[in-house]
Amino acid sequence: MFTTYNDVYLDIRRRLVLEKISMAELEAFEILKSVTGKAREEFVRDKYLHASNDIVRSAARLTERRVAGEPLAYILGEWDFYGITLKVTPDVLIPRSDTEALVDCALRRSNGAFRFLDLGCGSGCVGIALGVMRNSARGVLADISEGALEVAKENVYNNRLSSRISVIRADMTAAPPANLGKFDVLVSNPPYITTDEMKTLDKSVVEFEPKNALWGGDDGLDFYRAICENWLDVLNDGGVLAFECGIAQSSSLEKLLSGFGLKNIQTTRDTSGANRVVSCIKQVELI
Ligand code: GLN
Repeated sequence: MFTTYNDVYLDIRRRLVLEKISMAELEAFEILKSVTGKAREEFVRDKYLHASNDIVRSAARLTERRVAGEPLAYILGEWDFYGITLKVTPDVLIPRSDTEALVDCALRRSNGAFRFLDLGCGSGCVGIALGVMRNSARGVLADISEGALEVAKENVYNNRLSSRISVIRADMTAAPPANLGKFDVLVSNPPYITTDEMKTLDKSVVEFEPKNALWGGDDGLDFYRAICENWLDVLNDGGVLAFECGIAQSSSLEKLLSGFGLKNIQTTRDTSGANRVVSCIKQVELI
């Protein structure tokens, strides 16, 4: 049978529509692109050409993974964040557009050639966006997961940031490694889902995304406490601390930060209007 690229596309789309996947058309294009390497214009140009059996089989395989509930990002192996294409694997949380507010906040509250630390970096999305946006910035990406560190290293390299960004293993619940130096900006999108919320998360999140990047203890605030207890010493006087948080957490997080003596605490919203980022300044008071 003479199968065209268009037939392959229509088959994928039909299958996704049948499963009530909301953006079936867009996802079908992405799956086809991942299998054929053809961007939309090339697809339009070549849609009535013959698609090989290999292509038909690969497209069917990826489509079945999607139908089984796997997030598109893991199937494609890459995802866009802040206009940057990043590699993603099941070792890292899929970068969310909500998190772009954390990057915006760090950029707004810092200036010049700042040095930053991204704690719990996962794919590296936050720190890499900072490095791309400020070409005088230098930084360190840190995570406890070896799998995540591999992905972050690759993303740093692919974005030509290896001369300005290093990647290290660190545990945010323990003291920082020696000789880390001081930072002007500390950003983190730590795990913050509460024990109760973990039970109500979407199937595509619980079944596929790394639990150690999601669960933040009973009240979801364990890692904010741990970072404040262990890591404030690496922040310069006048340095910025910026956290992503869950939509119901900003006021408890503000209180927590104020309890650690942090100043100039601000909450900012993400593009969907949720209170998403809490940031503050470390000011050492002279006595
Ligand atoms: N925003 C993510 C979610 O809702 C959670 C991210 C996190 O815990 N840091 O799935």
